[in-house]
Amino acid sequence: MRKHLAEAKRLAPQFAERAAHWDKTRTYPWENVQALTEAGLMGMTIPKALGGQGASLLNVVEIVEEIAKACTLTARIVVEGNLGAIGTIMAYGTEAQKAVAAELVLAGDKPAICISEPEAGSAATQMQTTARRVGDRFLINGTKHWITGGGVSRLYLIFAQVIDQNGNSEGIGGFLVTCDPAQNDYPQGFQVVGREHTMGLCGMPEATLNFTDLEVPAEMMLTPPSGLAHGFADLIAAYNAQRVGAAAIAMGVAAGATERATAYLKTRHQFGRPIAEFQGLQWMLADMDAGVTASRLMIHDAARSADPFPDRTKSARAKLFASETAIKVVNDALQLFGARGYSDREPLERMYRDVRMFTIGGGSAQILRTQLAGHLLQMKTPQTRGGYLPDPLRLAAE
Ligand SMILES: Cc1cc2nc3c(=O)[nH]c(=O)nc-3n(C[C@H](O)[C@H](O)[C@H](O)COP(=O)(O)OP(=O)(O)OC[C@H]3O[C@@H](n4cnc5c(N)ncnc54)[C@H](O)[C@@H]3O)c2cc1C
Repeated sequence: MRKHLAEAKRLAPQFAERAAHWDKTRTYPWENVQALTEAGLMGMTIPKALGGQGASLLNVVEIVEEIAKACTLTARIVVEGNLGAIGTIMAYGTEAQKAVAAELVLAGDKPAICISEPEAGSAATQMQTTARRVGDRFLINGTKHWITGGGVSRLYLIFAQVIDQNGNSEGIGGFLVTCDPAQNDYPQGFQVVGREHTMGLCGMPEATLNFTDLEVPAEMMLTPPSGLAHGFADLIAAYNAQRVGAAAIAMGVAAGATERATAYLKTRHQFGRPIAEFQGLQWMLADMDAGVTASRLMIHDAARSADPFPDRTKSARAKLFASETAIKVVNDALQLFGARGYSDREPLERMYRDVRMFTIGGGSAQILRTQLAGHLLQMKTPQTRGGYLPDPLRLAAE
């Protein structure tokens, strides 16, 4: 994987150059996706037998850090093109499901994960989207929102309550659906109905999807190993890898901001000397470096625990610490640039807007704290019953 890390470093300057363009025009970075695909940076974690590289989580986070220093948006594509939905499918999918997913991702697709709904955010298991079996297929009905890549992704992993003959939920299952947004070719009953106007990561669509009697063949249902009743915990365990990837993006952005600030302190002069000579600013820089380094250590610790998914407590700790640290570090870097940092002459204002997301999406800081505390205390926490983090059943079993 040394070659892939070298490729990431080679591509980073061009990603940095184009980052403002995607942000300002709110467009998906297809040009970057093509470069990633040609360099073999999409689908690296897919097994070699299916055309991937069998890359480890540690390999991926090292690459993500380099790309995140240049362009947060592109780093998200690398994370979702290697972890998250694709990891779940490779772990639990049938050979046919894996083949469908591998082909799309290796050709540059970033799969979309459809969990969140207007009434089910942190409390994900309270989702209301249903999948009703009719003969050899399921009919899916419901609304998903904040779906990253909705309207550009070709592969969707949709989570829904599987409804039995009496109208009761058997548990939550995952369903693979493919489409071709470039040709406006969606299956009947699959509609992209809206896009959020976000603060940062502006080139990435965050879409609302409506499903109306969307037909999915039964063989496209992802079956969790422990069965439907408690299976969501299995399926969602795969997202611990995505969580470590998200932490690596936040840390990479913070590392990039620290590098920029270090260079600027030596070139900017005030009061007849480089501002690097002011001890107050040196201490800010030292704290920034310490925060980035601690984040990296926690991320690598979590990544090394992957077997096949990383330890959930280590993953939660890494994302919690790295996301909160990155907001502070990028904010401090912006401060060190003075007025210049507040303008689009520098990328800091964009990096700040981008990085703000990571304490919210993919497990909020509050939910991650609750999960960590639940692990330390070995307690079932009533306020998170119904949410997927922590899963009281799984916690009790540990
Ligand atoms: C940019 C972005 C991309 C996203 N992409 C996807 C995607 O691709 N697919 C997808 O399915 N979802 C996606 N999401 C949704 C994301 O996972 C949810 O936003 C997240 O789970 C939080 O849900 P919520 O926004 O509804 O907040 P809520 O759950 O309504 O929470 C509101 C506040 O209450 C706090 N809170 C909630 N419950 C508790 C509790 N038990 N204890 C303490 N505090 C609590 C939260 O931390 C938060 O501060 C994305 C979100 C963002 C911002």
